[in-house]
Order: sequence, then C-alpha cells, then structure tokens
Amino acid sequence: MRTSCVPLFSAVISIALMGNALGQAAIKARSFHPNELGSIPVLMYHAIGAHSSRGARYDKHGLNISPETLRKQLDMMYAANWYPVNMRDILTPTINVPLGKTPVVLTFDDARGTQFSYLPNGTMDPDCAVAILEEFHAKHPDWPLKASFYVLPRSKYNPTPFYQPGLETKKLNYLVQKGYEVANHSTSHRMMRTLNAEQLRWEMAECVRYVKSRAAGATMDTMALPGGSTPRTTELMNTLLNGTEGGTSYHNLCILRAWGDTTLPPAHKRFDIKEIKRIGSEPGYIEGWIKHLSSGEEKPFISDGDPNMITIPKSREKYLDTARTVGMKIVVWEDKTPKPAKPLEEEPKKHKKKKTKDS
Ligand SMILES: [Zn+2]
Repeated sequence: MRTSCVPLFSAVISIALMGNALGQAAIKARSFHPNELGSIPVLMYHAIGAHSSRGARYDKHGLNISPETLRKQLDMMYAANWYPVNMRDILTPTINVPLGKTPVVLTFDDARGTQFSYLPNGTMDPDCAVAILEEFHAKHPDWPLKASFYVLPRSKYNPTPFYQPGLETKKLNYLVQKGYEVANHSTSHRMMRTLNAEQLRWEMAECVRYVKSRAAGATMDTMALPGGSTPRTTELMNTLLNGTEGGTSYHNLCILRAWGDTTLPPAHKRFDIKEIKRIGSEPGYIEGWIKHLSSGEEKPFISDGDPNMITIPKSREKYLDTARTVGMKIVVWEDKTPKPAKPLEEEPKKHKKKKTKDS
C-alpha cells in the first residue's frame, strides 16, 4: 500500500510508541479510520433454499433463505469491505484481519441438509451453503473460506448432521480440512432453560464425543444456544463453558445468542464471552445491517491490519479494556473535528481613529 493516500485523512494521531516501524504502520493505517472497538457482525443462518412442507417457502424468521439471497448478501458484504473469520478467531484482542476490513462471522445452525449436500452423482449441490461460499471464494480469492457450523448429532431437522446418513463423517472432515469451524449446538436441541446441570453437561459432552469420534480435528470449543434459550441461572450458564461428563471434557470459549444485534470486540470493556449476539437472516435484515454499518450510523470494527496493535478513535478510548490489552501497542487518533477558529474581532473605532491620526 502506498502511503501517498494518507492525506485523505486529516485527523491527528497521538501514538504511545513512536518507533519507526510503528510510525510507518500507523501512518499507513490512518486513511482507513481504524476502529478496533467498533461493532462486529455475527450472522445467523439456518436453511438455504430448503423445500417447505407448509406455508411460505422462505419464512419471515429467516430460517430458510434462498441461495440467491445468500449470494447477494455475500456481494454486499464484500463491497462493504467485510472479511470472513471463524467465531473462535475474534475472541481475543489480537484479531487478525487485513487493514481496513471489518470482520464478519457467518454462522450456520443445526447442520441442516441445505448447508452442505451432495447430489446423487457425487458432486456438491451448487446451491448448498458450502458450495455458495466456495463459488464466492473462487471469484474473490481475497475472501477466505471461513464460517462456523454449529452442529448436533441429530434433531428434528436431521437424522444425521447435514441430513445425508452415511456422508456425515466425510462432510465433518471436509469442513475441518477446509478451515471452517465445526462447533457445538448441543446434542438434542432441547431448550436449555428447562435443563439441569447434569443434562447440560451431557448436551455439551455428547456432541463433542459424536463429532470428535468422526472428525478428530474439529475444534468444538465455541457453542450456540439452541433456539437462543438460556439456562435458568448464571451457575447453569457457566456449566456450558467447562465441564466433564461420561469421561469427556469440554471447554467453550464463548456462548452465542440468537436474534440480536451486532457484538462487541474483545478489547471492549463490556465484551462478555457469554453474550455473543447474532444478527438473524429475516428478509432484508442482514442487508439492512450492512447498510447501517457502512453508513457509519453505528461504527463498525475497522482493522489497522496489525494483530498486535489496537487502533481506536479518541472518542472510544474510554471503552478500552486496558487489562485485556496489556502488552499490546495502543494507537489513539483524534476523531473530533477541531472547532473553527474564532473570527477576529473588529478593531475598536477609537483605536482606528488614533492610528489614522498618528499616521
Ligand atoms: Zn438450532
């Protein structure tokens, strides 16, 4: 990146550390208005192009959207400088996203068939979510193959993850090998507000056993609440983070909610691993959020391109979690427009007269 684009941005940067390398990086970053305390969109998808046995095929809750809608949303995200990451990649302040980009997490719940399916001839269904992501990556190699799949062994949605019995092991391994995240959506999809500690531990551990016995490389260390239903107490909620059941231990780095808002970045004081909010795919909703964040009505996370540096506008500095960012380089830029200089007061008439007389 040439530094000649820098004059586009007129704010003054105050830098805690003024080493040459950092000075260069900061100068390069300025033209992108980095804001590493801005909002991060985590998107929630379910079925893509599924057939419906009743009612409208594409419902108002966004539980089934058309393949064309997903393609259009990817185009919009790309144009808005968004950049896909896995959920587990944005849980520490060292987020690794290129300069000027906003991280976005595409999450897919329930391991529904339309997310990943093969045709009878053995090729991937071009309209399933995985094929759509790969088609987009082939067209835009700078859009990596990243997404997080919240799977479960079986539920009312599938007899087996991604619906085609016999292909589940192949599919789970495929996702892991391609660099997608495979994570925990419980075992039975029961609403967690009705479950006790023992049941919650089984829901977490049995899903880990099922997936890891088929795809050992699956990380299985983030979880999405089935139906967005939360356990009744904080103690029960904490049961979802760490535990052991039937000889299987599980550890979740965060808990994802459903149908919410944007989420906060980990360097933000109010970041909470149990409160990762997600934007649902109701018709027009994701499109609305892309426009909302692009317009700056709500400030999105914009990367400075250096995972070990946190760059923020001065007005956001009060939200920086200094404990969680110990040892990182912190760059703060002044984002307030300076007040216009006061116009010069007219010289008093008396003084003017005197001047005339003297001259
Ligand atoms: Zn679900």
